[in-house]
Amino acid sequence: MSIGKFELTDNVMYVKGVGPRRAASLEKLNIFTKYDLLTHYPRTYENHSSLTKICDVFAEENVLLVGKVFNITSREARGLKIINAVLMDETGCIKLTWFNQTWLLTKLKEGTKLLAIGKTKFDSWAGGLAMTPQSFTILDPDEEPELGITPIYPSTAAITQKVLRTAIKNLLAQMPPLKEILPQEILREQNLISLDAAIRSIHFPKNFDELDAARRRLTFDELFLIQCGLMLIKRQNQDERLGISHKKNGALLKAALEILPFDLTKDQKKVFREVTRDMENKLPMRRLIQGDVGSGKTAVAMLALVKTVENGFQGAFMAPTEILASQHYEKFSKLLGDLGIRVGLLSAKITRSKKLKEELYQKISSHELDIIIGTHALIQEGVKFAKLGLVVTDEQHRFGVAQRSTLEKKSDTLPDMLVMTATPIPRTMTLTVYGDLDVSLIKELPPGRKPIKTLVKNIRSRKKIYDFVRTEILAGRQAYVVCPLIERSESETLADIEPAEEIFEMLSRGIFRDIPCGLLHGRMKPREKDEIMEKFRGGETKLLVATTVIEIGVDVPNASVMVVEHAERFGLAQLHQLRGRVGRGADKSYCVLISDSKASVAKARLETMEKTTDGFKLAEEDLKLRGPGQFFGEAQHGLPDLKIANVFRDFDILIQARDAAEKFMTDDENLKYFANLRENLALAYGDKFNQIIAS
Ligand code: ADP
Ligand code: MG
Repeated sequence: MSIGKFELTDNVMYVKGVGPRRAASLEKLNIFTKYDLLTHYPRTYENHSSLTKICDVFAEENVLLVGKVFNITSREARGLKIINAVLMDETGCIKLTWFNQTWLLTKLKEGTKLLAIGKTKFDSWAGGLAMTPQSFTILDPDEEPELGITPIYPSTAAITQKVLRTAIKNLLAQMPPLKEILPQEILREQNLISLDAAIRSIHFPKNFDELDAARRRLTFDELFLIQCGLMLIKRQNQDERLGISHKKNGALLKAALEILPFDLTKDQKKVFREVTRDMENKLPMRRLIQGDVGSGKTAVAMLALVKTVENGFQGAFMAPTEILASQHYEKFSKLLGDLGIRVGLLSAKITRSKKLKEELYQKISSHELDIIIGTHALIQEGVKFAKLGLVVTDEQHRFGVAQRSTLEKKSDTLPDMLVMTATPIPRTMTLTVYGDLDVSLIKELPPGRKPIKTLVKNIRSRKKIYDFVRTEILAGRQAYVVCPLIERSESETLADIEPAEEIFEMLSRGIFRDIPCGLLHGRMKPREKDEIMEKFRGGETKLLVATTVIEIGVDVPNASVMVVEHAERFGLAQLHQLRGRVGRGADKSYCVLISDSKASVAKARLETMEKTTDGFKLAEEDLKLRGPGQFFGEAQHGLPDLKIANVFRDFDILIQARDAAEKFMTDDENLKYFANLRENLALAYGDKFNQIIAS
């Protein structure tokens, strides 16, 4: 946006007090433009509202003092580098102490003016008052300290607080008033201050009320705009083209229900009713089925696929891994083959052979296949469906919103869509990342499942643990050993971790030398992985050492024990997911978490695994402790990068923003306004929800 000559997209070096050299350093903070600097929000604030004269200071008081330093000395004691100085104002003096900050010696000169903040104490050695400053600022001789609330920014060694504060102050002085982006009506209803006021106050609030109002406004903006983006997708799905309206359940579906070797649970029935209703509706279905591992989501998805086939359509089923795709294929073709439903698998083996691939594609496009199962190769390759009616994505967080929309564009009509996820997604996430989907929940597990016994053990118990594993194997069962790494890491923080390869060597040559063991990890070729998995599933190998490649979906009912090495390296949601690999058969199952972590936080975190099997609780816990990035692994979480909002702390605002967006976007004029806003948005908010909307 252009405001006179001032452009928010200008390079930050043109801000007074920055220049090319500092601009280069600012890049480390991801600040490239004036906009980036403007939205480099403070991390926290310090309250410097009043100055105390040294003669008025008592011990054990939090104070802000300004004076000159004298008698600067340094020494070493017990490995600590200690700097002492005396701070003096017109009324008295106080002793200052710093630990391990030797760089100060080059900055502090006799007579340097200093602002120091901290708690005072009585120093019996000095026989007077002393302070170890919690924070301090070196002032120019004629500089008056700024009183009030001081912003504390994320900073680096090269870019100090003072540089940032000055640069932002100059930027705000240069900047013409920002145009309002939210409609007046919403500002009024939500009781929000103007964007311009909010941006200025977030950096330099006059008081805490003003700060709260600014933070609320900017947080609302972020969340509201994302919600509008999600509503836009939702509305577009509903408006642009009409979807498929499936007919009422008929004979084929009835036959499929009869062929299932079990009765559906109450939750499965409820969810299938919701799915049926959506599929029969003319609007395209956009539904997320959330349910713990083994809760029977796939069974519901299979019925939905039968329904689309019954209506003369094709169905696609995308699994997150090759192994899973072929497992589903086996199950589906065995069950559904009897009903005359033709099931195909697009596997890596097939895509490697040009001939096989063309044959399969031909069968898909000529409707010789009814249900096609594959990984997301199914969307990436040039697969053309004759008549796609339903797409099921077994998501497990591997597919983002972007991939979801790519698949939609594969077809001229809008097929119905079902997304399944096994890692329970806390409500905060369903409201942000999955806000365009309706949610169904499967809470109860099918009957007859035995709870898995989970134990947290110290590494010293390793021998005992593996003795136990041996007993289980000799009794005819199988076991998994899960490790966080494949091979030894060069990185210092991971150097202590025994990788899968070493654990495999240790076990297969040691205690299990007479027992067939396998090693499975993500760096193996698909064919190799399949072979190893096949051997384990067939019971040929008894012990499988693996990385988290087995996390998703592998189904070996005879496996009754899982040992997780260095369990502290995993997230709780992930451990829960891993744990779901055992306890699938008739035997009592165990999950042993080995950890040598001394940190009590880590230990307490793992102990929640012993106490609860509620995946939602574990996920919420995890998300709080580790943040969405860790929770979902790498940058795959699909959560837009939020500058100020925190979906946990600001959950209330999230709900308000969602409700406001829902209301706002029902109006067609507003819809247009928003679509426009996205294009013209002065503040680069656009980028954020473009990540969501992008395809
Ligand atoms: P999910 O996809 O949620 O992980 P699945 O649909 O794969 O779960 O089901 C897990 C296991 O439970 C499968 O072996 C499946 O055959 C079985 N199963 C599913 N639904 C039921 C049910 N209602 N009663 C008994 N077993 C069931
Ligand atoms: Mg499954």
